Amino acid sequence: MSTASIPTSGAPAWEITESRTADVGGVVVRRALPRRGRRTVGAWCFADHMGPTSGSRGLNIGPHPHIGLQTVTWLFEGEVLHRDSLGSEQPIRPGQLNLMTAGRGVSHAEETSSASAPPVHGMQLWVAQPSSTRDGDPAFEHQSELPAVELAGCRGTVLVGSLAGVRSPARADSDHFGADLVLEGETTVPVAIDHEHALVVASGRVRLGTSVVEPGHLAYLGRGRDELHLEVVAPARALLLGGSPFPEEVMMWWNYVARSTREITQAHRDWSTRSGRFGRVVSALAPIDVDPPPWDDEVTPGSRP
Ligand code: MN
Repeated sequence: MSTASIPTSGAPAWEITESRTADVGGVVVRRALPRRGRRTVGAWCFADHMGPTSGSRGLNIGPHPHIGLQTVTWLFEGEVLHRDSLGSEQPIRPGQLNLMTAGRGVSHAEETSSASAPPVHGMQLWVAQPSSTRDGDPAFEHQSELPAVELAGCRGTVLVGSLAGVRSPARADSDHFGADLVLEGETTVPVAIDHEHALVVASGRVRLGTSVVEPGHLAYLGRGRDELHLEVVAPARALLLGGSPFPEEVMMWWNYVARSTREITQAHRDWSTRSGRFGRVVSALAPIDVDPPPWDDEVTPGSRP
């Protein structure tokens, strides 16, 4: 892991960490979040940079459960078919936002639409739900048109929350935002001083102060800035994530975001026994099962925490 720190006036944080690689449904991803010592950025608790895949290899992730989070799927290239236990069946294409809210429980599958599909390149992010909504109903929304932000040297799309006075229509349960930035020169992005921020570069190279951020890294910028100065070294595509620091301690294991091991044990038992809590996904792919969590909690079969 490499870390670079640059003190600035008011000393907002500035750290660059390497993503770790993981295999998700046969596709190599660079996992920028969570990191040791950096669990959340605002309500964002997970960031996988997927692909670009090679050849005709696409994403094929069979039905699996989630609780307590929203999945935010955003593609730069290719197409993925989303199916979930609410009955949603929705192709996701570049420029469109797929936002699934798990609440107390949902399951979904992510499939490559056809054998001749182009390479898949995108990001899957998770947003931790606050306690006010995390036990609520699951939901799904697809935003095919998102608002644009034009800044000198940068074209942005606001996925969630707001940037530079432009607000996305997507559901946001916390004070967080995410934007896709196409960077072609030098740009100054206005941001909220009480938000913490992170930049994940998908392609190209971006200079931040004296550091250069490339794909496979997360640049964490902390709070205390009212603008971010970005300069491309090579034309770049990056996601800027931010928000008020998440006020609750989050516990994550496998596909669950919760507050205690007991909640996770219960959720996993409910998934493993197909209790009905996670519904059913119509998919040709086999459901995904993993061993129980490595701790010992007694929970009641089929009941909720
Ligand atoms: Mn998932």
